[in-house]
Amino acid sequence: MTDKAKTYNGIAVPAGEKITFQNGKPVTPDHPIIPFIEGDGIGTDIWPASRKIIDAAVRGAYGDTRSIAWLEVLAGDKAKAASGVPLPQDTLDAITEFGVAIKGPLGTPTGGGMRSLNVTMRQKFDLYRCVRPVRYFSCVPSVVVHPEKLDVVIFRENTEDVYAGIEYKADSAEAVQIVDLLGKFGVDTIEATTGIGIKIISRRKSRRLVKAAIEYALESGRKTVTLVHKGNIQKFTEGAFRDWGYELAREEFADKIVTEDELWSKHNGKLPDGKILLNDRIADAMFFEVLTKPSEFSVIATCNLNGDYLSDACAAQVGGLGIAPGANIGTDCAIFEATHGTWPKGAGKNLANPSSLLLSGVMMLEFMGWKEAAQRIVTGLEKTIASKNVTVDLHTLMEGATLLSTSAFADAVIANMPEPVKVQAPVAAAAASAPTDSTGKDTPAQSVVAGDKVSPSSSATVGSDTVEPASTAPVVPAASPSAPATGKDAK
Ligand code: NAD
Repeated sequence: MTDKAKTYNGIAVPAGEKITFQNGKPVTPDHPIIPFIEGDGIGTDIWPASRKIIDAAVRGAYGDTRSIAWLEVLAGDKAKAASGVPLPQDTLDAITEFGVAIKGPLGTPTGGGMRSLNVTMRQKFDLYRCVRPVRYFSCVPSVVVHPEKLDVVIFRENTEDVYAGIEYKADSAEAVQIVDLLGKFGVDTIEATTGIGIKIISRRKSRRLVKAAIEYALESGRKTVTLVHKGNIQKFTEGAFRDWGYELAREEFADKIVTEDELWSKHNGKLPDGKILLNDRIADAMFFEVLTKPSEFSVIATCNLNGDYLSDACAAQVGGLGIAPGANIGTDCAIFEATHGTWPKGAGKNLANPSSLLLSGVMMLEFMGWKEAAQRIVTGLEKTIASKNVTVDLHTLMEGATLLSTSAFADAVIANMPEPVKVQAPVAAAAASAPTDSTGKDTPAQSVVAGDKVSPSSSATVGSDTVEPASTAPVVPAASPSAPATGKDAK
């Protein structure tokens, strides 16, 4: 147990245990301490709503045998008000200590001022893959005719590219020196007053991103991994990303991968059973194809800037950013976050859609191996949206819909979750001989989930580090009518 007297930003750490990591995979205790950043702007609306739903889902799935011990950590406006700095060391220390965190949106000034806190955290914790599943929820208004055909998981490299933050203002000493240096390389076309940004893409970081994407495809049964790049123009950065991706695949997944050339030259266009297709697309063509042939794509691995654009474009295709989740994952830390911003004008009005942050919570639960709780949320959310009870963003686009506030939407999602699962009471004798049985983890509802392995020695859940799209999340068996009341989420 963690020392209860410990504080971060003056906030006491609640009773609970740490999530640890083994070979990049989280080992989740039954009562993990999870730091959260409420976020600026609409964070104050969407975080309380999301937290309420997540807690209800965990209770509904596991009764009292599992719960999350939330620890608020400060960042953004709240941190500045408390300590004068937007990202206190205590916040970074708490996330380092507890490994898995969730955050609302944080504001960043454009064109100057402080560096993005989100980018700072991704680099500080080496959260090298940004994973964004994009799928359609029935009834959500979309600008395309068949939004349901898009079901992709985007792996965006998260630490380098032009996001590495190597930038020099026009006329600064550094910019002038770089222009001089380039002059020595024979580059004589740069104007005197020129801002400089450096694009860096390395072999190691490209390979680990592509490896994570291929492993995810293999574990989740997805059949295509597409490398997206602008290598025709940026040959030694994005072109190299593509080449290193194929190189990695040849070295580590030779028996599992078929390239597009091989698909036609060796397999007559038919993907052999048990293999995945590894192909690549130039970024501009990809934007065209994901719109015109969405079902041809499944897992996408791409460089940082492409991934940023592409994930928002894909989110728009299925109905907007308000329902698109995201996760930033490294080898010993993961931060789950809403993909939209702070929507300052909507802040504090109980208007905003909490679904993006909530679905990020779903990804977090899946990452932790608590897939039953994750699926309860997906079911509740699907039913709520399908019944056209929605927040303002969807209401304005959906005919015949009922407008709900953020908090009322949260209550509706909870009411639409399945009945709570019956959690077996500990049996004294069995508990004495097999302590992990007393946690209730081996109840049928929890043992059906592949990857939700229970460690007999630590009573912890070893989660998969892959993040399943909500559409393929495992299904929780219907609860018994004799299920005990486990909280407010009972219908
Ligand atoms: P934004 O996402 O805050 O808002 C764009 C529009 O999207 C809003 O006008 C609103 O109509 C809609 N919207 C966004 N979230 C919504 C929700 N949950 N429910 C309903 N509608 C929603 O983008 P912006 O205006 O470009 O950025 C505002 C601030 O947020 C900036 O400071 C920016 O840097 C920051 N930002 C933060 C993150 C992050 O923390 N991950 C991401 C993007 C932008």
